Amino acid sequence: MANSTDLKGQTGLVTGSTSGIGMAMARALAGAGANVVLNGLGDPAAIEQERAAMAAEFGVEVRYHPADMTKSDQIADMIAFAERELGRLDLLLNNAGVQHVAPIEDFPIENWNQIIAINLSSAFHSIRAAVPIMKAQGRGRIVNLASAHALVASPFKSAYVAAKHGLYGLTKTVALEVATFNITCNAICPGYVKTPLVESQIADQAKARGVTPDQVMRDVILAAQPTKKFVEYDQIAGLLLYLASDAGASVNGAGLAIDGGWTAE
Ligand code: NAD
Repeated sequence: MANSTDLKGQTGLVTGSTSGIGMAMARALAGAGANVVLNGLGDPAAIEQERAAMAAEFGVEVRYHPADMTKSDQIADMIAFAERELGRLDLLLNNAGVQHVAPIEDFPIENWNQIIAINLSSAFHSIRAAVPIMKAQGRGRIVNLASAHALVASPFKSAYVAAKHGLYGLTKTVALEVATFNITCNAICPGYVKTPLVESQIADQAKARGVTPDQVMRDVILAAQPTKKFVEYDQIAGLLLYLASDAGASVNGAGLAIDGGWTAE
């Protein structure tokens, strides 16, 4: 009998999987036997190298679609591409995200618009296109990579916190709509993970607060996490694979904190 995280023959699509958490989750899905569609920005040659290496390492089909998560037509095309190329769409992981840190009165309007588009609206567009495919299949898993900032706020992150709270609201709404179709929709809400996004935030926070990067790490970033440790990729992957499995079928509309206790405070 297949073990609980055997995704052989299934297809998973991960937005923003050319870096950080998205890349780690794409690798975890491939490691569990799923065929994978990658997406994200970056140097085309480096992306092709990663795509081919992932396919060879895990013995699965791996495709790449370059949809820009600010463009609804490209997102719809990416979802259709996944089904056309790999025959199914079992798991959609909305992961692409960007950050900008600034006091609200100085927050650039273009950064607000970009963060709402990539961190929130892109999930609306991808889910809108994926649900008919999942309904026709009779099974599906939608996972939104939200954040502890879907549950609590921090200063200087108005757009990010608003987008992530919105993403959790979208998650709950979709969960109610798809519940009788053997489809689930959940949000994973991690605390800090040491990815390129966080590395650049450390520098931005230092500027906004007028302190050194070391002080931001100690007094801002890890101060929020009672464990005083970054969340690891494998820990998020464990939750994702559980949600993807049949054992996760009754988890629906949840905002699952994986934050070392941050949001317990
Ligand atoms: P990252 O910067 O390492 O990766 C972001 C990915 O999104 C990249 O692949 C990038 O190419 C892609 N992307 C950005 N703009 C895009 C666009 N317009 N179109 C297509 N792809 C685009 O960041 P990360 O830390 O791995 O973050 C991934 C997700 O996890 C984000 O949604 C982030 O908010 C969330 N998150 C991160 C942390 C953390 O501590 N790193 C914590 C909680 C939640």
